[in-house]
Amino acid sequence: MVNLASPSHQMPYLEFVRVAKQNTSLTWPEQLWWAHYTVWDNDILATGIITFLAHELIYFGRCLPWAVADALPSIFHRFRIQDHKPPPSASDQWTCVKYILAIHFVVELPLIVLFHPMMELCGLQYMVPFPKFSLLAAQIALFFIVEDSYHYWLHRALHWGPLYRAVHRVHHQYAAPFGLAAEYASPAETFLLGLGTICPPLLLGYITGSVHLITVLTWMALRQLQAIDAHSGYDFPWSLRRLIPFWGGADWHDDHHRYFRGNYSSSFTYWDVFMGTVAGPRGKAKGHDSRQ
Ligand SMILES: [Zn+2]
Ligand SMILES: [Zn+2]
Repeated sequence: MVNLASPSHQMPYLEFVRVAKQNTSLTWPEQLWWAHYTVWDNDILATGIITFLAHELIYFGRCLPWAVADALPSIFHRFRIQDHKPPPSASDQWTCVKYILAIHFVVELPLIVLFHPMMELCGLQYMVPFPKFSLLAAQIALFFIVEDSYHYWLHRALHWGPLYRAVHRVHHQYAAPFGLAAEYASPAETFLLGLGTICPPLLLGYITGSVHLITVLTWMALRQLQAIDAHSGYDFPWSLRRLIPFWGGADWHDDHHRYFRGNYSSSFTYWDVFMGTVAGPRGKAKGHDSRQ
């Protein structure tokens, strides 16, 4: 933590920002971060607020353009992957919003509040200065690879009859997914998949002592964006999968919802290709077993 003049905790937020600006060694995001933790004067609360607000803003902020695209079929329907089906209705979207808000408050909020004590236990840092961009990027790349592997095997297990009925069935309510359906899942599934997002940074932090909360928040944001885009139902000429050949995206995950078996990974395609579980006609063309 960079030493700054210790202000009175009665000062308004902007006054904290002014005090933070006195330290010219901090970048402006670091100044705001320092001001945030100083204003709240309770690190568990400060981490909880920033994490929950970021989660909500990113989720609904990223889903909004997809909902607008669904409402404008004359412009966007030609990019829809399952273009033989109508886009989701306003009622489908509203059902998802209500369910997801309930999941966020009942399941995710308690986990977010618990995150700060777990982070301290595992030796993660959360005060300024922030880590170097190269370290942040390398750690996030590792989290994507680890989460994708965990997701592949857990998701494949969730398609086993008893587990499917008890845990995963809710997520398959929509055979033609849309943005807001990304986190439409049972509380148990939300918890199990959430472990794949929060455990890699905690473990790496415990082992190396060099993981920062800003890296975790950036990773969570990118993982959310990946999940929402994978459920969007749209494939554009500029979609990421056309730039990164092993990136799954909506084109990949849509086939999972459409054909029900195969394409179990979250971000990448290689686990399904190696394990012979590519879904639909693409899997058949590769000689993969569609029952797996
Ligand atoms: Zn599934
Ligand atoms: Zn899905």
